[in-house]
Amino acid sequence: ERTPTVAFPPILKDVFISVKTTAGFHRTRLDVVLKTWFTMAKDQTWIFTDVDDPYYQEKTGNHMVNTNCSSSHSRKALNCKMSVEFDTYLRSDKKWFCHFDDDNYVNIPRLGEVLELYDSGKDWYLGKTSIKTPLEFVSKNNGKDVSFWFATGGAGFCLSRSLALKMVPHASGGRFIRIGEKIRLPDDVTMGYIIEHLLGKNLTVIEGFHSHLEPMQFLNPDSFHEQITFGYNVNGTARNVLRIDGFSTLEDPTRFLSLHCFLFPEFAPCPR
Ligand code: UDP
Ligand code: MN
Repeated sequence: ERTPTVAFPPILKDVFISVKTTAGFHRTRLDVVLKTWFTMAKDQTWIFTDVDDPYYQEKTGNHMVNTNCSSSHSRKALNCKMSVEFDTYLRSDKKWFCHFDDDNYVNIPRLGEVLELYDSGKDWYLGKTSIKTPLEFVSKNNGKDVSFWFATGGAGFCLSRSLALKMVPHASGGRFIRIGEKIRLPDDVTMGYIIEHLLGKNLTVIEGFHSHLEPMQFLNPDSFHEQITFGYNVNGTARNVLRIDGFSTLEDPTRFLSLHCFLFPEFAPCPR
């Protein structure tokens, strides 16, 4: 017998979830997101893109935001999108801001369980680093060394409201873009720079966040329930996907459908 009970921690209704995408990835990446984890967090999840797309606007229940940022993969365009995500979060009344990429699977109940462990009234920057040492550069202003950690955007990260409010003078209303241009680094690195270097708050490393920078095939299925995010890379020869039974590679190239049905077999579109 199946047990159709998934515990959704109450905190989830207080989480603002943003997903970064771009015109060219709506069909190739958003489809599987909308079929899987998005269905478990429709009300609090918003998709940030760079065009008006009536088809996906409808599919997301009007949860798509056209940032009007350029659709190039330039640093400025990506910083622009993050700045719109952040400003939109601030206008919401949610206790947490969590950012993900469109090639992430988010284990929604687990995200809630983990956030329940932290007080959103305190300053929290939760995520996972992808480099072994802090990022370092020499300041052009004063020649001093700048050194800080940042959470890889491709693995997802969360900020408490308390921290987000302290970031307002640096990050709101387009100031995020200006800082990104000044230090000439991508959006997730800019985020780390603002939080760790400018505000002096530390990243808390949460092992459950995963991006496709990690080899997905080594994640043990016994631990899937405990993980918060997963990734994939199916471009070219360097295929990096979860090792999991389920749908065929043709039906499920990213393995996210199979993962979803492994975690939540009672959910559509899982075979019964
Ligand atoms: N992305 C974007 N604009 C672009 C290219 C990518 O907004 O022109 C988004 C994409 O949808 C994804 C994130 O940026 O959410 C990272 O892109 P991708 O996975 O292609 O690259 P990665 O940095 O992971 O190698
Ligand atoms: Mn990616």
